Order: sequence, then C-alpha cells, then structure tokens
Amino acid sequence: MTEAERDPLLTPPAAGKAVELLPGIARLTAPNPSVMTGPGTNTYLVGRRELVAIDPGPEEAGHLRSVAAVADGRLRAILVTHTHPDHAPGAAALAELTGARVLGFDARDGFEPDGLVGEGSTIEAGDLVLRALHTPGHASNHLCYLTALEGKGGHVSHVLFSGDHIMGGSTVVIAPPDGDMAAYVGSLRRLLEMEPKITLIAPGHGPMLPRAPEVISGYLSHRLAREAAIVGALRVLGSGVISEIVPAVYDDVPEALHPIARLSVWAHLRKLVDEKRAFCDDPDDITASWVASGD
Ligand SMILES: [Zn+2]
Repeated sequence: MTEAERDPLLTPPAAGKAVELLPGIARLTAPNPSVMTGPGTNTYLVGRRELVAIDPGPEEAGHLRSVAAVADGRLRAILVTHTHPDHAPGAAALAELTGARVLGFDARDGFEPDGLVGEGSTIEAGDLVLRALHTPGHASNHLCYLTALEGKGGHVSHVLFSGDHIMGGSTVVIAPPDGDMAAYVGSLRRLLEMEPKITLIAPGHGPMLPRAPEVISGYLSHRLAREAAIVGALRVLGSGVISEIVPAVYDDVPEALHPIARLSVWAHLRKLVDEKRAFCDDPDDITASWVASGD
C-alpha cells in the first residue's frame, strides 16, 4: 500500500465532508463534538452498488441530508450499534429521506426499528455482507458489525464497526446498571479471540484504528489495570466509597472527568462483587461502601 492510499484511512474525522476510507466504506461525521463524542458521531456508508448506513447519529437535519446525498438512492438499510442519543435518533429521519429500513437490536430510548438484528444476523449491502455481533457492556443492546473487504491483490480486510464498544481517542463509559463491566470485558475478549482476526476498526467516534488486535488488547489491559488499582485502593482504605476511590485510581485523569470515572469505578466494583473479590451491602447504590475481600 502506498502512502497516498493509506492517507484517506488515517484522515481525522471532521463534520461536513464525506471521506472514502476504503473502496466500499465512506464516513460522514455528525456536527456533535464533545468530550464524550470526540470529533462527533461517525456515520458509515458501507457497500458499493447498494449501501447500508451504520449509526445515523443524532437527529441533525444537515448531517442526515448529507448522508442521503452521498447514498444517492442506493441506501437499503440503516443500522444502529446501540440506542444512545448520539447514535440512533437520526434513524427515523434518514429513513424518511431514503426509504431505507431501520434495523437494530431492540426498540428502546425512542428508537423504533422496522426489523430486529442480533447475534449472528447478516445484513447484505449488494456484494458485501455485514455480520452482527452482540457486544454488551457499554450498553446491553450494543452490536458491532463485521465485514470482509477484498482489496488489491486479493488482500482481505476484516473490518469491525465498533460503535461505542471501542472508540478512537474518547472515553468509553460503562454506566451501570445498563452498562456492565463484566460483560464489557467479556465482549472485548471475544473480539480478540475471533478468527479470522479483525484487522481494522471503524469506531463510532474518532479515526479509523488499524492494528485492531493491539487496540483491543490495549483496551483489555487498561481496564484490568484500573481494576487492580481499585482493589489496591480499597485495601488501603479498608472500606471506601466511590468518591474516595476515584482520586486514588484516576490521578492521571483531569478532575473534570471524575464524575464519569465514578461510573466506571462503580461498574468495576459491581464486577468485583459478582466475582466475590469485593463486598457491598447494596451494589445498586453508587453511594454505598465497598470492602475488598481478604485474599
Ligand atoms: Zn453510547
């Protein structure tokens, strides 16, 4: 691959212009940048003669009109990775503009699909096929979509559209009770162990992520290191509440992000209680006191 061919893949997302990342994958980024959404939500158009859209984003008329214009009458289906407000609410308006069917895991948060997709479902976009993988953790109804793209010389890329399961450069929040850390770690492990190996990740936020196995194992070791730090902090404290644990464990993270870190710590502690590595009278209460198990 020459440098010029590599360039579009590494283009940072920016609202307002469509980027052809690879033949068969275009990205349009919604104008909703923030700490949580990075440069904004990525909407992907996948396919050639017929297209599937992944994550229409928020109900943002200009963005949806651009997606419909690039699709140019070829859009057959609108998929969502999950029903959070930065991913799914644009589905109905995009369907109205294009006549495409809306598909997702379930009807929730105001999202009303025309059809349901779940673990193992296949969605065809002309000569491309997307396979849905149920990846709970960030949200219980989270799906990733996997496709194989053949490039020059028969080289096949296994591309994962990862939604908020894996992001480029912004924070994946695991917010209980719908967010579940044990499920999240399990979903990451599953992706890492898949054969054939995932080669390229197209995240819901941020740039494309080549070297997918490294990215996924980095995510796993990051979470497990945080978990070990939480257990360590709890042992030092004897018994602690989340607002005491966060500053000890997240000393590398700006204080502005500590409210989000509290949710992650809560999610880790709930996982530790399930594994009998910590105790708590009421794991459903974010203000509860937690104790590390003795061993
Ligand atoms: Zn989300």
